[in-house]
Amino acid sequence: SNQNLFAALRAAFPTDLDSVAIETDTGLHYTWRDLERGTAMLANLLAGLDLPPASRVAVQVEKSVEALMLYLATLRAGHVFLPLNTAYQKAEIEYFVGNAEPAVVVCTPKNFGWVSKIAFSSGTKNVFTLGDDRAGSLLERAAHCSDQHVPVQRSEDDLAAILYTSGTTGRSKGAMLTHGNLLSNAQVLKDYWGWQPGDVLIHALPIFHVHGLFVASHGALLNGSKMIWLAKFDPKTVIENMPRATVFMGVPTLYVRMLAEPSLDQDAVKNMRLFISGSAPLLIETFNEWRERTGHTILERYGMSETAMLTSNPYRGGERRGGTVGFPLPGVGLRVRDEQGNEVPTGEIGGIEVKGPNVFKGYWRMPEKTKEEFTADGWFKTGDVGKIDTSGYVTIVGRSKDLIISGGYNVYPAEIEGYINEMPGVAESAVVGVPHPDFGEVGVAVVIPKPGAQIEGDKIVGTLKQQLANFKIPKKCYVVDQLPRNQMGKVQKNLLREQYKGEFL
Ligand code: ATP
Ligand code: MG
Repeated sequence: SNQNLFAALRAAFPTDLDSVAIETDTGLHYTWRDLERGTAMLANLLAGLDLPPASRVAVQVEKSVEALMLYLATLRAGHVFLPLNTAYQKAEIEYFVGNAEPAVVVCTPKNFGWVSKIAFSSGTKNVFTLGDDRAGSLLERAAHCSDQHVPVQRSEDDLAAILYTSGTTGRSKGAMLTHGNLLSNAQVLKDYWGWQPGDVLIHALPIFHVHGLFVASHGALLNGSKMIWLAKFDPKTVIENMPRATVFMGVPTLYVRMLAEPSLDQDAVKNMRLFISGSAPLLIETFNEWRERTGHTILERYGMSETAMLTSNPYRGGERRGGTVGFPLPGVGLRVRDEQGNEVPTGEIGGIEVKGPNVFKGYWRMPEKTKEEFTADGWFKTGDVGKIDTSGYVTIVGRSKDLIISGGYNVYPAEIEGYINEMPGVAESAVVGVPHPDFGEVGVAVVIPKPGAQIEGDKIVGTLKQQLANFKIPKKCYVVDQLPRNQMGKVQKNLLREQYKGEFL
C-alpha cells in the first residue's frame, strides 16, 4: 500500500468535505474540500515540471494556508519539502539553497529579485512566488491545473522533508525525515494526547519548524480537526479565540506573554482541553503561574528536528510534572549515558540517546556528522544532557555544548539558573561558560530582572556562594534587559559565550 504521509492525512479528513477545516485570522474559511482540491492542483503543478522523484522544494514564505497546502502538495507529488525560516536573509538563503540544491524555490513576491538570483545561479530552474494574501505566480500557475491527483506511491523510508535545525548551537543542519518518521510520530501523538472528535486547534506557530509544521498541523489533520490559523502570535488574539478551541501548542515564551494579559483567566480557558509546551525549557514559575491563573496544567513535551517528538508528560493517567519532559513516547527508546558510553544509574546526569521509528535518516549531505551523532549500536545522540528519575520522568538539564567544565568539574548551567531564578526580583537567567586561564572555563551569569525590580550581580553571586559548591559559582554576573533568543524562543547561548569570551583573558 502507499506509505505516502499525505495519503494517511487525507484518509483522516472528515466525511463531510464541506465542513470547515481551517479558519484564518483574516476571516477566511477553508473547507476540507478546499484542502483536497488545492493540494491536488499544486501537486499537479509540481508534476508538470517533470522533476525527478524526491526533488527538493525549498520554501521561504510568510505563514498562510496556501503555504501549508504547498507542503501537503509536495508530499502528495512525492517530492521533499524544505521550509526555510522567514527571518533568513541573503547569506543564509545562499547557504541553504546552495546546500540543498532544490529543483523548486518558492519565495514571497517582495523577495523575488534576490532570491531568484541566488536560486538561478545555483541551478534551480523553477522559482515561484507566494504571498500571504494568495498573490504570486505559484497560485496563478496552479489555477490552470487539474484538481484531481492520485498521491504518488512512496515507501516508509522515502524522504518527506528536510528540516534545517534551529541553529541554536551553531550552523543549522538539514535533518532528513521520511514519510515513516513523520507518520509514526503523528499517530503516536494522536493517541498519547487524546485527540478526540470536536477538537479545535489554535495554530499560532510558524510553519518552517517541527513544532508548527509537524506536531501542530499533523495533529489537527490526522484527527480531522479544525484549525484556527493565526499568521502571527498575538497573546490577545489567542486568548480571544480560546472559547472556540480546545487545544493550544506553544513555545514557553508564548505562555509568558499570555500570562501578561489580564484577560487570561479561568473563564477564557473554560472550553480548552489541553495546553502543550515545547521547543525550549518551560520555567517552573511559568508552569505554576499558568496553573494558578487558569486551572490548567501545561503538558510539556520534548523533541527536536531530527526526531520529531521523543518524550511527553502524560495526558491522562499520571501527573504532569513541571520541570520535566515526561516519559519516552511509546516506541521511543531513550537512554542516558556518560562520556565513556556507559549507561548511568537512575537519577544521574548524562547524554540522552534515542532510538525509534521517528528518528531521522541523517543530516543532508553531512555523512561524517551523521556518523558522529549515531552510536555503534544505532542510537542517535541528541546533544541534550538529562536524567531519568525512579518513576521514569525525563528531565533535560541542558545541552552538551553548554556544559561548563571548570577546573575539571562538570557544571550544569540549568542547575545554577534554577537557583538564580528563585531569587527575588529575578525574571530569568542564563549561565554560560567562558575561557579562564586557571580553570579552563568558568561560568558567567546573565540575569534579567522582573519589571521594576532592582537587582545586583554581586549580590546574586554572594547568595549563590551560600547555596552551592564553589566550583559551580559563576565568577561574574551581569544584569541586562533581555536574553538573545531566536524565533522559536530559544536562548542563543552561543551569542552570550561570544559576547563574554574575553572577560577573564
Ligand atoms: P541546532 O541543533 O541547530 O543547534 P536546535 O537544537 O535548537 O538547533 P531544534 O531541532 O529546533 O534545533 O530544537 C531541538 C532542541 O530543543 C532539543 O535538542 C532541546 O535542546 C530543545 N528542546 C525541545 N523541547 C524542549 C523542552 N521541552 N525542554 C528543554 N529543551 C527542549
Ligand atoms: Mg539541535
